[in-house]
Amino acid sequence: MPFKVRYSYLPEQFADVDDVFDALKRLVPTGDFTLGKPVAEFEERFADLIGTKHAIGVGSGTDALKLPLKALGIGFGDEVITAANTFISTVGAINETGARPILVDCDDSFCMDVGQVEAAITEHTKAIMPVHLTGDVTDMTALMAIAEKHGLSVVEDACQGILSETDGKRSGTWGVAAGFSLHPLKNLNVWGDAGVIVTDDDAINEKLCLIRNHGLKNRDEIAFLGCNSRLDSVQAVVGNWLIGRTHDITNRRIENAAYYDEAFGGISGITVPRRRRNVKNVYHLYMVFAENRDALYGHSLENGVEAKVHYPIPLYQQEGLKPLGYSPGDFPVTDRHAKTVISFPVDQHITREQQEIVIDTVRSFYA
Ligand SMILES: *Cc1c(COP(=O)(O)O)cnc(C)c1O
Repeated sequence: MPFKVRYSYLPEQFADVDDVFDALKRLVPTGDFTLGKPVAEFEERFADLIGTKHAIGVGSGTDALKLPLKALGIGFGDEVITAANTFISTVGAINETGARPILVDCDDSFCMDVGQVEAAITEHTKAIMPVHLTGDVTDMTALMAIAEKHGLSVVEDACQGILSETDGKRSGTWGVAAGFSLHPLKNLNVWGDAGVIVTDDDAINEKLCLIRNHGLKNRDEIAFLGCNSRLDSVQAVVGNWLIGRTHDITNRRIENAAYYDEAFGGISGITVPRRRRNVKNVYHLYMVFAENRDALYGHSLENGVEAKVHYPIPLYQQEGLKPLGYSPGDFPVTDRHAKTVISFPVDQHITREQQEIVIDTVRSFYA
């Protein structure tokens, strides 16, 4: 049985793409397949969108986290503090630089509990990588004060947080740099892997432009050893087609979330996370706490509602993260979330009727 309310909206999002194909037809005769015009245009528009001086297109959101750390000279022997509940990419990106990822538990905003950061700082700490998970935002005002006090760099993982804000300031503009993902599952999405780094720092920008392109200053001269992580020109064409709609996409998600909040607020069994007035949450995910979560999840699927759980197994308890040396119970809030959270579709294409089906399905479970 197909879902009455599907989770993935990609077929709708890319149903009418004649304009993209037209743009690709114009690209092909130019042979401008690496960097070149579409990438430069996308970078300029992305920097404008976020409100930073520079944007650097790279191969993935993961590289958009890893390369700024590399540009800051972070590597073996260093420690980078990040959130215990995040997508694996954040921890993987830190690990790839050679640095050790140090985890800090989250709070009920799903972001890092900033009150626990100072206890995690050691003489090896070089940077903090807060994650704006679900589209909610880390308490950046408090985190920046801690970073400044200890002389640490901040690189934001804003992959789920495009256009989110706290205290009137946009995610991605707080730290020395920030990484965004354009993966098909993100709010601003293209047709494959792609990412963007933003920064106001001219020197970091210059370094990142070299790092992503083998350290090549020009065709013949290499400034230092880099890698190949260029934003694909074809994906930049798709990005240029969609980027003008980012505010509309965001506003629809916010409206849809408000509609759910209102209804779920009246269902005992569901706890809506606290919505902070100083935060603009962009609802990459619409996630609530549910009593008897596993049964609600099963009930939703059986009734045609494609719910998701982000994520059922805490990262630090995964086999692959054993080398980090954590033990069960080290991150109690993350553990509680893994057992109680559930996500419902909140994308810009979901209809009110579909949202009503979701709400009725949840209501009928607790009735
Ligand atoms: C998607 C995502 C990334 C980056 O993912 P890519 O697939 O490499 O683009 C990083 N961090 C978080 C929190 C994400 O959700």
